[in-house]
Amino acid sequence: MNVSSTRCLVLKTADHGESDKIVTLFSENLGKVTGIAKGAKRSKKRFVNKLEPFSRILVSYKPSRTSTLLFIAEAELEHAFLSLRQSYQKYAGAMYLCELILRFTKEKDPECGLFSLLTWALHALDEGDRPLKIAALFHIRLLDIAGYRPELECCSQCCKPISPKNTYTMQPGIGALLCNQCRSGNTMLTRQLSVQTLKFLEKAQGVSLGHLSRLQLPDKAARETLYTLHGYSCSLLQQDIHSWKNLMATLK
Ligand SMILES: [Zn+2]
Repeated sequence: MNVSSTRCLVLKTADHGESDKIVTLFSENLGKVTGIAKGAKRSKKRFVNKLEPFSRILVSYKPSRTSTLLFIAEAELEHAFLSLRQSYQKYAGAMYLCELILRFTKEKDPECGLFSLLTWALHALDEGDRPLKIAALFHIRLLDIAGYRPELECCSQCCKPISPKNTYTMQPGIGALLCNQCRSGNTMLTRQLSVQTLKFLEKAQGVSLGHLSRLQLPDKAARETLYTLHGYSCSLLQQDIHSWKNLMATLK
């Protein structure tokens, strides 16, 4: 069977048996894929320091005849993003990005926009941009690509455009805003979004990736965003996002 190659970001790795590794990758042209690297724990030459979380690697692989698993023949390291494994704050941020990708994507469903977004975010974290800001910007853009773009222009009930006189909450299952008048009586919706935060997020939805890092998202706005999008995402996924607690713990 022919060997093919694809550029990937490593989402997670796990030991398998005595000498193998199972690696979940996000590939530029295949989407999310799982591969087995036979003998990876023994091979110093083919795999050492390459199959680590967040690394960008060029993978040579053979598809399996019987399953969706790829047989990874070799990996070439392109970018290690080493600092993401050396600082706990950066690590918690990068883990959150990878878990969002793991949960919002299906196997072998290519999405080059998502590959570019994850590449952008890992670079930004590696270069020292604030994990809170990068996680918030990544999350809003990921929802867009995944088809769950939140509606941020007006209240979904009274349809009035957002105004500094109001505060807003997002209805978790819908991704639509409610102003504080329309929300009255609903004690379930407690996470507030200020108009300033909503304006930042509208901008973040519209600019190119090249301009996203230049957005000055203050910590307060990043925090409001993350709490709101986390609630929205958990209700979409119907499951927890485990790395959320670690990300939030780094804020204390
Ligand atoms: Zn309203």
